[in-house]
Amino acid sequence: MKKTDEKRRSFLQYSVLATLGTLFGGLVKLNSSVYAADLPLLKESDPVAKSLGYFTNADQVDTKKWPKRSGPDAKQQRCSTCMFYTAIDPKHGKCQIFPNNTVEANAWCNTWSKKPA
Ligand code: SF4
Repeated sequence: MKKTDEKRRSFLQYSVLATLGTLFGGLVKLNSSVYAADLPLLKESDPVAKSLGYFTNADQVDTKKWPKRSGPDAKQQRCSTCMFYTAIDPKHGKCQIFPNNTVEANAWCNTWSKKPA
């Protein structure tokens, strides 16, 4: 076999692998976002949510009980600005702290940490 044939074969093999990798990666990403959207919305009554001061509306947080939400950056504190949040759509997202649920973009809990810029 000629050296150019070997190079051509290698190039084709790499191209096929790269294409399959791209397709597979896209399917995994698509599948995970569809899966995340199917998770139930976290409720304030959930025992773990309650213990972390989860409120579906960040503006209704009991700041006497959860003073972290009354600091100078309080108005910015909501799930959509939290480092643990990944948006699914404009109003909902996934939270790493509650992997079996989705959370509201406008919610808040005491684990809130500012998303890095
Ligand atoms: S950790 Fe962040 S994203 Fe998760 S519920 Fe609390 S504030 Fe929202």
